[in-house]
Amino acid sequence: MKHFLLTIDVEDWFQVENLRPWFPMDTWSSQQVRVEHSTRNILRLLTEISSKRGKPVRATFFILAWIAKRMPHLVREIMSSGHEIASHGYNHRLCLDQSEKNLRNDLEKSKKLLEDISGHEVCGYRAPSFSISERILDIIRSAGHTYDASYNSFSLNTRYGRLSPEKYKRKGIALDIGNGFYELPLTNLNVLGKQLPFSGGGYFRLLPSAIFKIAVREIFKKEDAYHFYIHPWETDPGQPRQNQASMTSKFKHYINLNKTLPRLESLINSFSDCDFISCKEYLRFVTKKELHHRLVKSTSVKT
Ligand SMILES: [Zn+2]
Repeated sequence: MKHFLLTIDVEDWFQVENLRPWFPMDTWSSQQVRVEHSTRNILRLLTEISSKRGKPVRATFFILAWIAKRMPHLVREIMSSGHEIASHGYNHRLCLDQSEKNLRNDLEKSKKLLEDISGHEVCGYRAPSFSISERILDIIRSAGHTYDASYNSFSLNTRYGRLSPEKYKRKGIALDIGNGFYELPLTNLNVLGKQLPFSGGGYFRLLPSAIFKIAVREIFKKEDAYHFYIHPWETDPGQPRQNQASMTSKFKHYINLNKTLPRLESLINSFSDCDFISCKEYLRFVTKKELHHRLVKSTSVKT
């Protein structure tokens, strides 16, 4: 059985890194809130698909604590729909731009807030704009998380952080970082040693749906799991437009917003033979599987 790890980064349209110069944090409270509506559209879609296929489509929602604090009911709605609650930090500041002390504070504060609202332990973290490093992984672990889901191997986006995945033992697609902590990288398509961006987000909106599905099928030929991400604002064509942004930023942010939700539905339906499980469930599965193999091996040696 192949696993489809569907992940959603819950933040609003004005919190995106691309538009940051026009929406500094002190203006966030006065912006039009759209995330509630767009997140509910995704939840509704997942519930509908689940009931049609007679099997749950479970996802992991990495929620910005700034949103959770203002909309705790949304966190509870996500949880009561059967999905995993994970952390996307507090203020969407890039990890690589923060001092160790500030980052640790951000991580601990977000985790505690989400746990207080949901009543459950928050195990996972995703860094804004995938800005991680080995040093940052250590801080994420020491702030009490079990896994990080921020490594994106696509190297042409300079905001993304870098890791050396070959250093770590793999469990499925997960990397065993040590001390009970795992990295769950986004899955891109490797073609002749080059990583092509097929893990979601803007590339999912930009590329034709049929091409995207072919790439995901190729990924599944080599891997037991596919790790995909999307944002609620990417499904919201009615969001306010920021016309002063550069052509590139506008292109990246606004392309095909009206197509995202139908494309997401089509993607999930095309891979309906997969198991759609949360990141936490997948890690439990791959780490247990290894334990099981070790037990079988030690039994067969004895007999
Ligand atoms: Zn984000």
